[in-house]
Amino acid sequence: MATPFATAIQIAQSIRDGSTTASAVLEQHLARISEREGEIHAFNLVTTEQARATAQHIDKQAKAGNALGALAGVPVALKDNMCTRGIATTCSSKILEGWKPPYDATVVTRLQQAGAVMVGKTNLDEFAMGSSTENSAFGPTRNPLDTSRVPGGSSGGSAAAVAAGFAAASLGSDTGGSIRQPASLCGLVGVKPTYGLVSRQGIVAFASSLDQVGPFTHTVADAALLMEVIGGHDPLDSTSLPQPLPSLTAVLDQGVKGMRIGRLVGMPEGCEPEVLARLEAAFAALQQAGATIVDITLPSLEFGITAYYLIAPAEASSNLARYDGVRYGLRVDSPDLNSMYGATRAAGFGAEVKRRIMLGTYALSAGYFDAYYGKALKVRRLISDDFATAYSSCDVILTPTSPTVAFPIGEKADDPLTMYLCDVFTIPTNLAGHCAMSVPFGTGAHNMPVGVQVLAPALGEQAMFRVAAQLERAS
Ligand code: GLN
Repeated sequence: MATPFATAIQIAQSIRDGSTTASAVLEQHLARISEREGEIHAFNLVTTEQARATAQHIDKQAKAGNALGALAGVPVALKDNMCTRGIATTCSSKILEGWKPPYDATVVTRLQQAGAVMVGKTNLDEFAMGSSTENSAFGPTRNPLDTSRVPGGSSGGSAAAVAAGFAAASLGSDTGGSIRQPASLCGLVGVKPTYGLVSRQGIVAFASSLDQVGPFTHTVADAALLMEVIGGHDPLDSTSLPQPLPSLTAVLDQGVKGMRIGRLVGMPEGCEPEVLARLEAAFAALQQAGATIVDITLPSLEFGITAYYLIAPAEASSNLARYDGVRYGLRVDSPDLNSMYGATRAAGFGAEVKRRIMLGTYALSAGYFDAYYGKALKVRRLISDDFATAYSSCDVILTPTSPTVAFPIGEKADDPLTMYLCDVFTIPTNLAGHCAMSVPFGTGAHNMPVGVQVLAPALGEQAMFRVAAQLERAS
């Protein structure tokens, strides 16, 4: 696919063959950052000096004829909920003000080992709670393709950084759609891997039974490469699957002949007609490439959002209890310990985070636990069962990633329920622990990009990437 900027694979190749240097590539990206970051606000922090030092180190290695890693010299950006040793990690929250992690997340270490050059930490909805990056304590990120619109969220800064050419690739986290939805809204490839396939050691926890890390890239091949760099077992993460990542770059050219593609009967309401038209075009393209289209149903899909907004806040209320003014970041001094806790949390958390903590605490409280949290777990099971039934007759499922293209900044900011509906197609994957990815497939209303979501069962990444690569060839 033609992209406006060089891909990660192209950059790594041209550094390896000596036609450019890591430092020259970095300066191009830094120049684009100086030009447009003021208007876009993709970053909470640009790590210019560290990036220059890393690029010089790569160039020295190249000059000495040493073997270079798969991403040597490729500028990457990291969502600011990923721990970076000695570098501020804020989750776009005031409560982590001044906190510098004492260690790197495993995915950060793996990127470094592959030679990637970190250019900065990207903006997000506070603690990854949101779908527009408007919930950041440091102000919203704008969509580089139309700055009056949101980039999606919660990994909106990571999506915007790649779409604007500030980095060739980036990492985000996806608890209910936070990689796939911004990828869709910014015209990028975004991957939510199978639960446990990518380490979460050093990723600030939002909802531990749902969170996964994955890449944003311009191309499917770049996404496959990034996955191969960051994925695979990590003994430091107890939820990490005890197996290597299946090869993904090797399957991209295999085509989709004979594959069975599930088409959802009974689409939820609220999809833009242009989005549905692109989805139909995607089915037609796969059929033409030799795949069979199979009708499937997911009867409990419509309950996904309800279940998610009990389970995710319940886990968040527990995970966020650690921000007490003692261990991390902000402390608001008060006469006694209890009022210090209260004052710190009142000052440090934004409105959406407080809403989630209250929802979650309520759902978990004695007397309501069975009616809310327990019930949500049962719905989660139903959704998994529905997927299992569907995957008995198809290999992957295709849906829109987001019901709409990128919406104007401010349009949904005061209406949490409307915002929550953005995730109708992405949330069920997280509840089931499966993999899914968004692939750009043309444009819809306002000439903004439309993403098609490819869903596959747990560890179905190879089938998913084959279909994604075919869609990319067809677009
Ligand atoms: N938009 C969803 C939420 O607000 C999902 C966020 C995410 O995946 N981190 O919770």
